[in-house]
Amino acid sequence: MFFGILVSALAMSAIVALRYALTSGFFAWATERKIPGRHAALKNQIGREIRWSLLAALIYGVPAGIVAWGWEERGWTQIYSDWSAYPFWYAPVSLLAYLFLHDTWFYWTHRAMHDPRLFKRMHAVHHASRPPTAWAAMSFHPSEALTGAIVIPLLVFIIPIHIAVLGLVLLVMTVMGVTNHMGWEIFPRRFVRSRMGSWFITASHHQRHHEQYLCNYGLYFRIWDRLCGTDKGLSGKI
Ligand SMILES: [Zn+2]
Ligand SMILES: [Zn+2]
Repeated sequence: MFFGILVSALAMSAIVALRYALTSGFFAWATERKIPGRHAALKNQIGREIRWSLLAALIYGVPAGIVAWGWEERGWTQIYSDWSAYPFWYAPVSLLAYLFLHDTWFYWTHRAMHDPRLFKRMHAVHHASRPPTAWAAMSFHPSEALTGAIVIPLLVFIIPIHIAVLGLVLLVMTVMGVTNHMGWEIFPRRFVRSRMGSWFITASHHQRHHEQYLCNYGLYFRIWDRLCGTDKGLSGKI
């Protein structure tokens, strides 16, 4: 049993590391094409971003690997694969519920880590990227990585989700995590500045967090930032 869990955890770590390398690599390449030389002077910083990210990938793989093992061997979790198990409207609702709950967890843990007592120990690594690049998406101290690594593995025990919808949640998480750090918008300005767009977090919103620190803590939505008065709007530099 222990060996099975270990193999599953290592396999998950490898998958997360590969996912990071491919996604960040792709968007770093896209950044170089769009704004040549933008991050040319940041070679040392990028090296650090990659090393912290690979360590974080190792940590992300542990809870994911334990849950994947339990799903296969013991029938754990509420993950299902038969679309007819729930009514058709449940798939989009579960997607939104996962994103909202992940966002909620992220907002409050992120905000807590900006408390001076926790900042140095847990979150300074992430903010050592000035400005962040596509490689900073998983650049976290191990203690911060752990807070991020347990959310989805916990949620799959509580809220039923189709395996494909879970894949979509992970895709959104990965793509937004990378694109929010690369210093330019993949979304049209018209959408970002629109009324509907102003509820979503994209690169210009998170960039401002990296410029000013004590604002814009959210992950996907600006709901908590707005409710709590921590939303300072978009960066003027993107
Ligand atoms: Zn960040
Ligand atoms: Zn922060």
